[in-house]
Amino acid sequence: MKLLKNELYKFKIIEIFRSIEGEGRWVGLPVVFVRLEGCNLRCSWCDTTYSYDGKSFIELDLESIVEKVKSYGIKRVCITGGEPFFNENLHILVKKFIVEDLTVFIETNGTLWNENLENLDWSKIYITCSPKPPFYFVHKKLLPHISELKFVIDENIKLSDIFKADYINILKNDTIVLQPESNKREMIEKALTIQNDLLKVGVESRIIPQCHKVLNLP
Ligand code: SF4
Repeated sequence: MKLLKNELYKFKIIEIFRSIEGEGRWVGLPVVFVRLEGCNLRCSWCDTTYSYDGKSFIELDLESIVEKVKSYGIKRVCITGGEPFFNENLHILVKKFIVEDLTVFIETNGTLWNENLENLDWSKIYITCSPKPPFYFVHKKLLPHISELKFVIDENIKLSDIFKADYINILKNDTIVLQPESNKREMIEKALTIQNDLLKVGVESRIIPQCHKVLNLP
């Protein structure tokens, strides 16, 4: 059988594993995570530095990735990182998962975009965007596709980093998640204050901790 180019392409994979969704609005549901190698940022509190150390990945082709994901018998797959958009062939992976009848979650820092995603079936794609300091920049082409905006509440974040003109259409949709950094008590208090401040400007938000860490899951 003649192989297509896409099928020959190998992705740099850090890990593929089953867990529960630990962050954001889908928390608690079983998900298979595919962690891609590489990230364009270097956040000070990053807890997945191994995803861009340049030595922790293996290379897998599409069929091997799909086979492993489907072996768990779960209909949701979350592409995470690192930064998934850092891989220029992200669209090939997403398209393949959709063809395999999987719902695809993508966790992104929002700074990058891939034009080839534009024509895919967006009813099967859920984008969680977690803008990062200091600029909280989100690529303008990604903005219309964001399903959920998640902010890590750390000692530096301000209300103005969340209540921004760029995000206004997303803010209206009740899809804002405030995630206290490392589940620290003082960041939980700060999240409560920001939640209250957002309410005053008509924006609902959810405070959700990293539940997989509370439960000591991967
Ligand atoms: S964007 Fe995410 S993976 Fe990249 S450095 Fe920041 S926290 Fe880590």
